Amino acid sequence: MDVEQFRKAGYAAIDRICDYYINLDSKPVSSSVQPGYLAPLLPKTAPEEGEDFQTIAADYESVIVPGLTHWQHPSFFAYFPTAATFEGILGDLYANAAPNPGFNWSCSPASTELEAVVMDWSAQLLGLSSVFHNAGGIGGGALQTTASDSALVAIVAARERLRALTEVPLEELLVYVTTQTHSLGLKAGRVLGLQVRALEVRAEDRYALSGTVLRQALEEDKAAGRRPFILIATVGSTSSGAVDNLPEITAVLQDHPEVWLHVDAAWAGLALCCPETREALFLDTINASVDSFCANFHKWGLVNFDASTLWVRDRKSLNEALDITPPFLRTAHGDAGTVVDYRNWHLGLGRRFRSLKFWFVLRGFGVEGFRKHIRQAITLNTTFVDLLADMEIFELVTPPSLALTVFRVVPPSHAQADLAALNALNAAFFARLAVRPDLAITQTVLNGVFCVRFAVGAARTTQAHVRAAFDVLVEEAHAAIALWEPTA
Ligand SMILES: *Cc1c(COP(=O)(O)O)cnc(C)c1O
Repeated sequence: MDVEQFRKAGYAAIDRICDYYINLDSKPVSSSVQPGYLAPLLPKTAPEEGEDFQTIAADYESVIVPGLTHWQHPSFFAYFPTAATFEGILGDLYANAAPNPGFNWSCSPASTELEAVVMDWSAQLLGLSSVFHNAGGIGGGALQTTASDSALVAIVAARERLRALTEVPLEELLVYVTTQTHSLGLKAGRVLGLQVRALEVRAEDRYALSGTVLRQALEEDKAAGRRPFILIATVGSTSSGAVDNLPEITAVLQDHPEVWLHVDAAWAGLALCCPETREALFLDTINASVDSFCANFHKWGLVNFDASTLWVRDRKSLNEALDITPPFLRTAHGDAGTVVDYRNWHLGLGRRFRSLKFWFVLRGFGVEGFRKHIRQAITLNTTFVDLLADMEIFELVTPPSLALTVFRVVPPSHAQADLAALNALNAAFFARLAVRPDLAITQTVLNGVFCVRFAVGAARTTQAHVRAAFDVLVEEAHAAIALWEPTA
């Protein structure tokens, strides 16, 4: 493709993207293709001769689009929705127009320096104190691919901090997570070859970790010769939006200062942009005490995937753990310590120029525009909760959290049915929802209770979409109840 062909194909591509968004609302949310649908539609090998781009673009429409799940669909309420924006798309387009691997400052100074700036802007947006800002030179933040990468990097930094103080055999080291921590905790343990202990959380604590449980675990493990050195706490758990009790946790950790506290706020962290959420999400404790903090702007934070942010209170152990400098990576600025080399802040060497889309989004929306989107999602969830409360067949399993509601069907005539029977009913209810083309929604299990999660956050969801989704839930709940045998 030459530059004039690119110009033409590029304009056509933008037209197609606009049409995609204009027609999104009328598409089924989830794809109905069956596993293995694609390979038979494509040649067995790449073409011998290059093909015309018009042909390739037409095939994208005919074979790829039908296999897409439309995460930007306004009726997408599954997992945690991702609010992509045109500002974000353009940010990636520009970034891809001048690709560079950005591992050292000198790879492309703008790439590094813009990242340092947008991380500080984002820290301020969320109310993170200046200790986490790059400008201070002690703490700071860097973009990561996912919250899983952020947690892995935090564990590596925590291990470095501990081992700089004392020699500890690796097999004694222990990572703390909770039974509601995202899979990232166990996965990081597996990758790093470290033991992981999942601390129990209780329904009566709303599935949040309490100080008592933590204190008891620390005493047990230390008495048995194990060395807990990091706790991955969650602000806004994936299953239920639970917020671990950070004030209690940090009070306990005062007696165990070698334990690094990482906060995974991949989803709920974005809500910190709204001052009215900060108390419930323990922002003061985060600012006063946590060692590292992660939020995913690629959830409801308006920045297109991938856009995970990680901040650390002190960059020293992170950089020391990850700085490996063979001769071919040395630069005069790096040697002089006058620049940040972001390769020492993440797992890979090269990294994408992601700060550009942050810059476009934060400028395009402004802080107020960003808050408006988050508040809108929370308000829509309140509408949903009000609708649920009006229908006797539904029960909240745990209090709603921000833009997430976890509920189940409990027919009033069988409110005393046993757990297994109600779980069977709710699994049948969910199975009906899962095949609906007009919404996407996901399930979870909370301490043995099968529940359905309703998560708001896509950029284009309105009251009408929430009401329409609720009508579908009522219809399918009645259908599932009609087929249910509560005593079977
Ligand atoms: C979504 C989510 C994650 C996983 O995020 P990745 O960025 O895909 O690793 C982790 N933790 C919480 C609390 C989440 O909500």
